[in-house]
Amino acid sequence: MSKFTGFAMKKLNEVGWVEKEKPECGRRDAIIKPLALSPCTSDIHTVWEGAIGDRKDMILGHEAVGIIEEVGPDVKDFKVGDEVIVPAITPDWEDEAAQRGFPSQTTGALGGWKFSNFKDGVFGEVFHVNLADANLAKLPENVKPETAVMLSDMFSTGMMGSENAKIKLGSTVAVIGIGPVGLCSVAGARNLGAGRIFAVGTRPNCVKVAKEYGATDIVNYKEGPIDEQIMEATDNEGVDAVIIAGGNMETWKQAVKMAKAGSVISNVNYLSGADIVPLPREAWGCGMANIDIATGLCPGGRVRMERLASLIEYGRINPDSLITHKFKGFDKVEDALMLMKDKPKDLIKPVVLCD
Ligand code: NAD
Ligand code: ZN
Repeated sequence: MSKFTGFAMKKLNEVGWVEKEKPECGRRDAIIKPLALSPCTSDIHTVWEGAIGDRKDMILGHEAVGIIEEVGPDVKDFKVGDEVIVPAITPDWEDEAAQRGFPSQTTGALGGWKFSNFKDGVFGEVFHVNLADANLAKLPENVKPETAVMLSDMFSTGMMGSENAKIKLGSTVAVIGIGPVGLCSVAGARNLGAGRIFAVGTRPNCVKVAKEYGATDIVNYKEGPIDEQIMEATDNEGVDAVIIAGGNMETWKQAVKMAKAGSVISNVNYLSGADIVPLPREAWGCGMANIDIATGLCPGGRVRMERLASLIEYGRINPDSLITHKFKGFDKVEDALMLMKDKPKDLIKPVVLCD
């Protein structure tokens, strides 16, 4: 095969199939054929909200499990035919930002995010992965591709939201937005030892999974300001950590108002729609309230994926609960993406099984 097809952002607000030359495999790289794929809310922000600006004929997608079709001669730990989890974020591990501990930001802000940002993504019959030894993880034998594809971005990002929130044993946590990412933040909070976990959301499917993943209280944001509801439920104490995984600019004000001194507001949401993020000055102690704000891009790389896979293998997380829609056949990636755009009420995550 010298040409392949993929489903692409043709330009802002337009998607379609494109044909491209097969990517070259560098000495330390790999070429992968997808086994399971999933679209991300970020693909929707990218195409229809212009969140990262315009792109021309860029293949979308950054959540994949695949089978190795080709490896470069310097790849040590992987061979043709291996089934692998592909992280959404594939950093340049030698870059100085990686050495400082921030691999997702290598070569610049969000630079570890290559697929469907500044190189073709995984919604192709084949796709290229840089630094295979550092950026791929073997799919454990007892884990299905469709289960593991939830690790690439959803669990890595959602659980990072909880890690960045510095949750301690018994901490009280609020997770705002319980789409797939927020649900993974709930799972992260529980795994890190949180006590009470408020999950802010309304959709019955998401509420059910939130409870399964460890939420102790459900807050409906359509029934009044969530800061007021959470302050009342905590006898005006507030929470030790707020994880923002959905909502709008108003959410930031509410987050500050429910945060205790010493707490962290940990954002994983992809902000769009306004240039300035508002913080309530007084509630934030005029900037002196010891309420910190943490941000981060999904952690990538091999060790991260291996650790998340071990959470599946040893029964700590059950990613299958996120999967509400399954498609069979690579060409169905288009339907899966459009479903993600339309967001029917019963949707959490769709997966595409490629064979
Ligand atoms: P999603 O749209 O499925 O989930 C967001 C949820 O928030 C929805 O269920 C929505 O109904 C709910 N919501 C809307 N308004 C709300 C409000 N006022 N209060 C509380 N909840 C409200 O999205 P997702 O796939 O779960 O992703 C969440 C965000 O994370 C997106 O913005 C996505 O682009 C971003 N993301 C970031 C990274 C990263 O690396 N930081 C990675 C992946 C996704
Ligand atoms: Zn994503």
